[in-house]
Amino acid sequence: MDHFFYRENRLFCEQVPLDQIAQAVGTPFYCYSEATLRHHFEVFEEAFASFPHLICYSVKANSNLAVLDALVRQGAGFDIVSGGELARAQRVGCPPERIVFSGVGKTATEMRAALEYGVLLFNVESRDELHRLNGLAGQLRRKAPVALRINPDVDPQTHPHISTGLRRNKFGIPYRQALDLYREAARLPHLEVLGLDCHIGSQLTALEPFVDASRRVLLLLKGLEREGILLRYLDLGGGLGIPYEDGRMPPHPGIYAGALLAELATSPFAKRHGTLILEPGRVIAGNAGVLVARVEYVKEGEEKLFVILDAGMNDLIRPALYNAYHTILPVARRFGQEERLTEVVGPICESGDFLAHDRLLPPFQEGDLLVVRSAGAYGFTMSSNYNTRPRVAEVMVRGDRFAVVRRRETIDQLMENESLFPVP
Ligand SMILES: *Cc1c(COP(=O)(O)O)cnc(C)c1O
Repeated sequence: MDHFFYRENRLFCEQVPLDQIAQAVGTPFYCYSEATLRHHFEVFEEAFASFPHLICYSVKANSNLAVLDALVRQGAGFDIVSGGELARAQRVGCPPERIVFSGVGKTATEMRAALEYGVLLFNVESRDELHRLNGLAGQLRRKAPVALRINPDVDPQTHPHISTGLRRNKFGIPYRQALDLYREAARLPHLEVLGLDCHIGSQLTALEPFVDASRRVLLLLKGLEREGILLRYLDLGGGLGIPYEDGRMPPHPGIYAGALLAELATSPFAKRHGTLILEPGRVIAGNAGVLVARVEYVKEGEEKLFVILDAGMNDLIRPALYNAYHTILPVARRFGQEERLTEVVGPICESGDFLAHDRLLPPFQEGDLLVVRSAGAYGFTMSSNYNTRPRVAEVMVRGDRFAVVRRRETIDQLMENESLFPVP
């Protein structure tokens, strides 16, 4: 459920028509619906209500401060993957006991900052990282709270670039090495071994990989218990997909939660009142945002009809990177027009620069506004300045009001850190 809808054939975000925002802030821009964000978080939260849990929204999906602020005020924790994301979490006042720190390549500086803030857990991904963390915690005279991220070696059946839980992926500690590494961690003086973590991939549309992974890690938890290693936290990561309307329908969060909780129900972990952690990103933010763009040109090619926008792959890279499907909608809807197969492309000098490929769409003309749906996650955060294009504005809608929550970059800003080679 989201708050983007047509009223009298005009596309609205909550109570604000998108053309009105376009007039005020120019195009392209990302537009987020606060009510949708909050709703998605609530649905997810309620789905796990029957089990002690902490929902740590994955900041990298959409890290705009206004988005983080809306979520943290609803009680969300954060899953962060860098010192920069830690700074964002701090900026919106996320309490440290609601933060988990993931990522395969945490630097010493990042670890120190997170130790000083007092995050809930470091999701550690290698033996070397474990030892580095132990050393840094010792220097700071602290105990670092640790979960080991285990690679359960299950196939998430998603795009290879966003699958992380296979043996060949760089993520996590190999399943077969886990027990040994837990034993080793338990002996390190400056660590407190508190949890087990896994995250098998993103945009998953089937339940089985989640169920398989949770079975694998619960088995490991049992093995650890036999050795007297009793963990307080089980982090099952994120990865639940959203409908991009390409025919693959992911399970509703309620079904997903039901399946995971059924696996947990009879476990010793549940009997000990362990806390379940989840790290959803896309399912919270994805359908809470759209990219609004304007048609610059319409070109009748020899084979194809091209609609050329003022937004391209630098603004939304998912189609180019993952061949992702995003629904395209006109901001002003007209009826009774013949639809044609259309290539919706950007202005970037790359043939991979497309937003929709071979899509049946109504006719567009120069100046028309259109939206690219499901762009709230991995949209702005993956955008770049390629072709010296300023990153676009971000707008948040709350009811009948909207606010620019990130100004459009200027070209001067893009060159700010550059200089010519100094004359001797
Ligand atoms: C990216 C990521 C997530 C969020 O994944 P979604 O598919 O957006 O839910 C969660 N945990 C970790 C460790 C991640 O890297």
